[in-house]
Amino acid sequence: MPKRFIFMGIFALIIAAFAWTAADSWQKKQLSKDTPILDKVQETTVASEASPIIVVSSLFPWYDLSREIGGDRVNAKLILPPGVEAHAFEPTPGDMISISQADLFVYTGDYLEPWAQDILAGLNGSAPESLAIGKDLAELPKAAPEEAGLDPHIWLDPMIMFKAAGRLAQTLAKIDPDNKAYYYERLENYQVRLEELDANYRQTLSTCKQQEFIYAGHYAFGYLAARYGLQYQAAQGFSPDAESSPQALSELLKSLKAESADYIFAEELDNPQLAKSLAKDAGVKILMLNSAHNVSKEDLKAGLTYEEIMKNNLKELSLGLKCQ
Ligand SMILES: [Zn+2]
Repeated sequence: MPKRFIFMGIFALIIAAFAWTAADSWQKKQLSKDTPILDKVQETTVASEASPIIVVSSLFPWYDLSREIGGDRVNAKLILPPGVEAHAFEPTPGDMISISQADLFVYTGDYLEPWAQDILAGLNGSAPESLAIGKDLAELPKAAPEEAGLDPHIWLDPMIMFKAAGRLAQTLAKIDPDNKAYYYERLENYQVRLEELDANYRQTLSTCKQQEFIYAGHYAFGYLAARYGLQYQAAQGFSPDAESSPQALSELLKSLKAESADYIFAEELDNPQLAKSLAKDAGVKILMLNSAHNVSKEDLKAGLTYEEIMKNNLKELSLGLKCQ
């Protein structure tokens, strides 16, 4: 596979450059160590403050989870740039350096980030600890029959997030055992909130006049629908790259009419034109659901969380499905 060789070649160059930079900065550090700039008091303060561990995540839900569980002890980084579509994403050389400098790299699993194993293998001895947080958590088949494998959108089920949170806390405690109690305390608080979120979903969605939601985007909400006993149809397959066939679209229109739905659901970062044209043809309005793969620049800056996204999704679902 020539593409792979080119990839590995570029990668080797980057590692060489990185090693050179690291050696250079080590030399500078040694120099400043020998120079008596710091007085005794300052030195003691610096030595007692262990720096936070760096956790680099592939997707927004894991980035948010590392903030929630890691608190002050974790410097959380997201390699997916804001607003970028997650499925087609491929890391840049800069991302590879970020991963190599991390204490922990979190990704969903080989079924969603097939590039992760290549990077980790390429880093050899200098690869960080890694966590395929969704390993064995995906169990639903992909939406379209022609797509092999499992539906990767596990984070849209709060109770799968509950399990993922436990895995992350366990891994953080292994890497940074001095703060094990801190991580587990934060885990416990967060899991209580996830249980509340789940209870709210269960309660609200048990009172709806309609049980089917129709989504003018890719098939991301299969786990959510399965958890809360809803029917779900999407215009596209599991990835936004997937074509939506005219036949699939006419099926959606039929369902919208049969359900006498007032709304179709859509995603901001995902194909607004398709949602607009379906809404127009079916004579319905558009409600937004956020599939939380990623967030916009503004939302990232404002510190939007997974929990807030899911609460907002419930409001939209409740309106669209005519729940009490
Ligand atoms: Zn997706």
